[in-house]
Amino acid sequence: DRDSTIEIRMVPYALGQLLILGRDVTQMQRVNQMRKDFIANVSHELRTPLTVLQGYLEMMQDPDMGGTLPNSKAVGMMSDQCERMFNLVNQLLVLSKIEVNRDNIFEYQVDVPAMMLVLEREAEQLNFDRHHKISFDIDQNLLLYGIEDELRSAFTNLVKNAIRYTQNEGEVLVSWREHNQQACFKVTDNGDGIEELHLNRLTERFYRVDKARSRSTGGSGLGLSIVKHVLAHHQSELEINSKVGEGSCFSFCFPTDLIVHRRKNKPAL
Ligand code: ADP
Repeated sequence: DRDSTIEIRMVPYALGQLLILGRDVTQMQRVNQMRKDFIANVSHELRTPLTVLQGYLEMMQDPDMGGTLPNSKAVGMMSDQCERMFNLVNQLLVLSKIEVNRDNIFEYQVDVPAMMLVLEREAEQLNFDRHHKISFDIDQNLLLYGIEDELRSAFTNLVKNAIRYTQNEGEVLVSWREHNQQACFKVTDNGDGIEELHLNRLTERFYRVDKARSRSTGGSGLGLSIVKHVLAHHQSELEINSKVGEGSCFSFCFPTDLIVHRRKNKPAL
């Protein structure tokens, strides 16, 4: 069968001898593809009813539109949960798209500094009642070959996490700089920190350190899993350093081949 995929492994057998093992993984790959398609379809289909529900709930909360409601607190709670579900479905959709995306990353140039400018504004919005000191240290000439949407998801998830998992009036530092001819992104916070036993599992889907607290922060448990897949697609890997009570540092570097320098005569955005 020309569509079959055989996985070949070589294992030491006896002194100076190797055993070659072949395994037909065609069925496994098909099932995996079906699983990914299924998640993508379900997430997509769930968005429509959720949008309608969200719209009506917002209308019911609007004093000009809905009039007086018997229990506006309950409507508010429904609206919050609706928003959570909407975020979850969106993240699932992002993840399933990334998992199947085999686009050639060298086809597109991404203006990362421009992306950081937008992210800085988003971070300020999220920070409005948290009062962190947030600083961005950005190399304005450091651009990258890659997939724009994917990179945006990765950067955004890490910055939002740093803001959400840091007690009020903390510090968050975001940097995008060249180190050892690699393009490196780093988010440092002086927040909650993470116990070592969790570090290896953080990028698993739905893995959360403190389920109750994470739920109240409104996350989906998919953020770091998205980051991991994006980085794998861009020849990079996530590094996590963290200490409970001191804070965390999430970082990664892209290899030299992916770097594009903005021509100096072109003004930065
Ligand atoms: P979530 O949607 O729950 O934030 P993520 O995959 O983005 O999902 O993160 C997984 C878990 O890792 C979070 O629930 C949180 O417990 C922990 N975490 C992520 N970022 C940080 C951080 N900067 N500081 C402390 N804990 C973090």
